[in-house]
Amino acid sequence: MSNIGTPLTQFLREEQQDHPEAKDAFTALLSQISLAGKMISRTMGRAGLANVLGVTGNINVQGEAVKKMDIYANNAFKQAFQHGAQVIAMVTEEAEDPIAFPENQPTGKYLVYLDPLDGSSNIDVNGSVGSIFSIHKLNNVISFPSNSDLLKKGIEQTAAGYILYGPSTMLVYTCGKGVHGFTLDPDSEEFLLSHNDIKIPTRGQTYSVNEGNYKKWSTPTQRYINYLREHIPDDRRSYSSRYIGALVADVHRTLLTGGIYFYPGEEKKPEGKIRLLYESSPMGYVVEQAEGKASTGTERILDILPTAIHQRTPIFIGSYDDVSLAETFMRDGKEEKK
Ligand code: MN
Ligand code: MN
Repeated sequence: MSNIGTPLTQFLREEQQDHPEAKDAFTALLSQISLAGKMISRTMGRAGLANVLGVTGNINVQGEAVKKMDIYANNAFKQAFQHGAQVIAMVTEEAEDPIAFPENQPTGKYLVYLDPLDGSSNIDVNGSVGSIFSIHKLNNVISFPSNSDLLKKGIEQTAAGYILYGPSTMLVYTCGKGVHGFTLDPDSEEFLLSHNDIKIPTRGQTYSVNEGNYKKWSTPTQRYINYLREHIPDDRRSYSSRYIGALVADVHRTLLTGGIYFYPGEEKKPEGKIRLLYESSPMGYVVEQAEGKASTGTERILDILPTAIHQRTPIFIGSYDDVSLAETFMRDGKEEKK
């Protein structure tokens, strides 16, 4: 029996049947996220006409130029949460400090970590971008989360996922019971189940990395990419390279077809570029739930206890065997035996 075509909210209610205490609240929260996704999707669909391309002239907390769509997307989520009564606070790439929602007390039980618009430099060239979310549920009611409330390990996530704005808009999420993908139907404006229980192949034939950074990498990382570039058919070692430059889009492709995405540390920037709480950790949870693997090269992403909300990590993510192989290079910096 196929449940393809099931609307997101109906699917959530059925999935949450074992958790009556969380069912309504969690379904409401995911509906708020999907609503923000629909708003962003629709606005971006006419980006070239709607004066939303380009930069605002401001620099964000990460030292990056803020795009107009970054702000639009951030506000879309903020407004959805403000009217939703579920979220106590959100941590977003676009704000140095957490944003609290006192209006949602005392019902709010969730913390949300957001990359409102991932890969935003792709917008000006009509390329794919995404939104990433990570959700933690608090057991105790608090008025304003302190740093220790916010600095959570990835394994403690209640749910995580992303929205991909590509030729079609998709919402992919997990709450620890597999990974499910929904496609936005432009006619009904609903997310309908299109990819049930996604599993990533154990090994793939594609690697995804910004090779322009080769000279900045450590020797083990350079050795690893050199290994991937060799063509040894007997070993099934014949990789293709694909790089979109939006974490969501590159990991989504890797999730469906297998292989590895990585953004390693650099000699002068060992922590790399990808943010732990709203990039690596949610993508890691999704990929692990699809039976893949997510690692810094030496440590499981979901086991890291953050020390700062905008902390970065190196990331190797994708097919289980591909990530395990990358780890052998990173751990000992030695060639894999042939
Ligand atoms: Mn991003
Ligand atoms: Mn972003």
